[in-house]
Amino acid sequence: MNTPFLWHNGRIKPWAEATVHVSTHALHYGSSVFEGERVYATPEGPAYFRLADHTRRLFESARVYDIDIGYSEDEINQACMDVIRTNRMASAYVRPIVFRGVGGLGVLPRDGAPVDVAIMAMEWGAYLGEAAEVGADVCVSSWHRPAPNTLPSWAKAGGNYLSSQLIGLEARRGGYDEGIALGSNSLLSEGAGENLFLVKRGKLLTPPSSAGILAGITRDTVITLASDLGIPCEERDLPREALYSADEVFMTGTAAEITPVRSVDRKNIGNGTPGPITRSLRDAFFGLFDGRTRDRYGWLTLVNAV
Ligand code: PMP
Repeated sequence: MNTPFLWHNGRIKPWAEATVHVSTHALHYGSSVFEGERVYATPEGPAYFRLADHTRRLFESARVYDIDIGYSEDEINQACMDVIRTNRMASAYVRPIVFRGVGGLGVLPRDGAPVDVAIMAMEWGAYLGEAAEVGADVCVSSWHRPAPNTLPSWAKAGGNYLSSQLIGLEARRGGYDEGIALGSNSLLSEGAGENLFLVKRGKLLTPPSSAGILAGITRDTVITLASDLGIPCEERDLPREALYSADEVFMTGTAAEITPVRSVDRKNIGNGTPGPITRSLRDAFFGLFDGRTRDRYGWLTLVNAV
């Protein structure tokens, strides 16, 4: 997984040199915010997908927790570019992380306590393996997402991923590829690391951004591509049983991209293979990277062109 170089606190350094001390605040209290981004190999060379949107979300997450990143959005974008260039990568999964570093073990960080910033890039194929093609077998988790005004779900913070681990570990123990969680209102929320879409009679349905979900950038991409393709999409509250009567179900995320779901709680969705709307959205999505879909929204940033 390692690449030769990463970016840490303002400079490129060898991967092995970017270590932290055991008293690091984030290790004890989950005080980190991070992003997951992808660089795709396009006919014109490696290109970031929606880099500015990811960087903006990183800053918004940090703001929720009063974490001062100490660099501008432009500087972080530039550093993301540098990591790919220095490692000479054609494609990558990129992980910027901002965390409270060494500065005492009190829950409340001392004034002026250090904040570390790092950007790693790695090779990472399909997050859920072959499920990306044939469809994932998922379950509805017995764990719910945190209620609104407990742990803020719009902030992509390290601590939130304890919830994702409970959901994912339970799913794996049960022999599933992934778990889908309900929100505190017992309505559908999202997967452990993905947003959720259903297709019913030709229409996309997805839980609203107030459903305890991360406001996913891939989710937004799918909503936009669907509109371009003339597929109606409604963000609305959905009960668990909507899954079992859906014609198609799929999950979205930077790592998971667009992963079809073929069964929920061992009940087949449709005929148990990826449906036509899922396939056309996947086609449009991956078409962005091989030139079949026009980049109408300026989502791609060529790494070598900067
Ligand atoms: N929800 C959660 C909990 C996630 O971890 C992710 C992955 N970042 C998503 C949704 C999807 O977000 P995005 O499309 O921005 O990667």
